[in-house]
Amino acid sequence: MTAQNTPRQDVLNETHHPALQSWLPSAQAAGGDFPIQNLPFAVFRRQGTGEAFRGGVAIGDQIIDLAAVAQAGLLKGAAAAAAQAGAQDKLNALMALGAPAWRALRLALSRALRQGGHPENPVEQAALQACLVPQAEAEYDVPARIGDYTDFYTSIHHATNIGKQFRPDNALLPNYKWVPIGYHGRTSSIGVSGQQFRRPLGQTMPPGASAPSFGPCKRLDIELELGIYVGSGNTLGEALDITDAEDHVFGICLLNDWSARDIQGWEYQPLGPFLAKNFATTVSPWVVTLEALAPYRVAFTRPEGDPQPMAYLDSAANRSGGAFDIQLQVGLQTPQMRADGQADASICRTSYRHAYWTVAQMLTHHTVNGCNLQPGDLLGSGTLSGPTLDQAGALIELTTGGKNPIALPGGEQRTWLEDGDSVVLRGWCEREGAARIGFGECVGTVLPARTLEG
Ligand code: MN
Repeated sequence: MTAQNTPRQDVLNETHHPALQSWLPSAQAAGGDFPIQNLPFAVFRRQGTGEAFRGGVAIGDQIIDLAAVAQAGLLKGAAAAAAQAGAQDKLNALMALGAPAWRALRLALSRALRQGGHPENPVEQAALQACLVPQAEAEYDVPARIGDYTDFYTSIHHATNIGKQFRPDNALLPNYKWVPIGYHGRTSSIGVSGQQFRRPLGQTMPPGASAPSFGPCKRLDIELELGIYVGSGNTLGEALDITDAEDHVFGICLLNDWSARDIQGWEYQPLGPFLAKNFATTVSPWVVTLEALAPYRVAFTRPEGDPQPMAYLDSAANRSGGAFDIQLQVGLQTPQMRADGQADASICRTSYRHAYWTVAQMLTHHTVNGCNLQPGDLLGSGTLSGPTLDQAGALIELTTGGKNPIALPGGEQRTWLEDGDSVVLRGWCEREGAARIGFGECVGTVLPARTLEG
């Protein structure tokens, strides 16, 4: 493919057609996350084996093993080069190849998986079938070597709700509507779905106390976020332009930014979050490309009376389709529910469309001072609370700072997370005239704090 006829990630093309069907029946499963129109990436291996992790693409209930595809020489040209790059134990090399390579691989796999195939990409069905591994037999790893992790704060509803609790007189700080707020996080404690982590210990200042105390966190919380993987980076000293910032985005995953609210409340001023956030962050194994999300773009708008973004954070494409309507849900399963064989209970339903800043604005702002983003860097969206209370993506909002517990089926209640609790994030997109696509799940479980000696 030439650059001229390579469609941009935001343009609908033959890979999005809602009528496309795969020869793999599970790709057509009603309500499934991984139809032929999705084709997200992960790194995986067969569970309980010493196999090397390698890149894979989800289709139905299977994974296309990119190492096997590359070894069998099933693809040609740019798609073959992309599959080869994706055969490694992390996706950084594929990410670094850039948007034309990801698009070429998506197009070739879409054609090869189609009912009846495609004359321009003839691939034997049996040969590709031999490269499939059932998802039920797979285990996953964090898909990239994440050099840097930055967490943004792009929900004005979350910022306002949190601000009211931490600073009742001064809820939303005056910079919020001008600057995409963020902080530099930590990569070493990022784990893939299935992550189990110990309740953190730390310093807290109990209300009314005159000195801080030390012990296990008592206000352990979740943050419902999306994670954005940087594909090709930018040179140190140069900035991304908002008009092509999205071409530097490999894709989007689910992200739970576990947070210790009592530790946070005591430590966060004046430099922001530190130990309240860096003990664990869980990401989903599957990364959905921006190209797959193209049918779910929505207009980015500002409420009446709010300032419009500064020129470097504004473009026609960002205004017309810079936001994404990604449906999000948080489920909570207590140890009691697990023992009773009861599935997780939904505690939040919202959409990414409510964010105050877009993906393109996050990347552009991050680089405007010359900061270089690199392949595999991860940007968190910030907690994606929507405008109403039931759309809040953190317990601190859902329970109004722990004052109003959530009722769970079976009679239990929760204000903060208890030991043994599991939290499941889910994301999907659906609308008339487009295929439903999903992100799979992002699950994490709280273990008891480590015991204090003496
Ligand atoms: Mn966060």
